[in-house]
Amino acid sequence: MEFFDFHHHKKYIRNGIYNLNIEQIPPDSPYSIGIHPQDIDVAHLEQQFSWMEDTMFQNCFAIGECGLDSLVSIDQKIQEEVFLRQIKMANEVEKPMIIHCVRKFYEVISLGKKAEQPMIIHGFNKKRQIAEDLLANNFYLSFGKAVLYNLSLQDIVKNTPLNKFFLETDNEDFNIGELYLKVSEIKEISLGQLNEQILENLHTIKNG
Ligand SMILES: [Zn+2]
Repeated sequence: MEFFDFHHHKKYIRNGIYNLNIEQIPPDSPYSIGIHPQDIDVAHLEQQFSWMEDTMFQNCFAIGECGLDSLVSIDQKIQEEVFLRQIKMANEVEKPMIIHCVRKFYEVISLGKKAEQPMIIHGFNKKRQIAEDLLANNFYLSFGKAVLYNLSLQDIVKNTPLNKFFLETDNEDFNIGELYLKVSEIKEISLGQLNEQILENLHTIKNG
């Protein structure tokens, strides 16, 4: 069985969404395009946005990863402006957003109210309360490698509705099949059912 990798950085994986590096030329498989908080270059911001506009070809599945990160040195106000601009772009081109968030969940929830497209928090690995607040605000969650060993995250997966999540490898080097297997056990469904559910979720976010 082939498993969809919702967010990854490896060009050789074709069944998933490849996250482009800043100012990179896209592959001919699905990809996401955005300005990550750590890549914001204030002096060349307009150039970065025109790269985005010019590179949203056919296989562009989503805008992102973009969002807010309290640990990078870029000014928070500027991060919010760049994020908001990408929310507006996503609204315009009608594509879902893959969100990177570090310790800024409530700011992301508040800015997210301006989004008209589905928003997916990638690499979710935080507390139960934050997961519940995100879900209550219509966010999707994408889970990665930590689910294999983190018990409290497994509990969050258990409590996340089947139609509200995705699975990803991100930067980690492991077989996504392991993660699908683990999650199918947690959710007490078959691997085939899980696979189908994820494809259905993809279909849902693609169509707004
Ligand atoms: Zn990533």
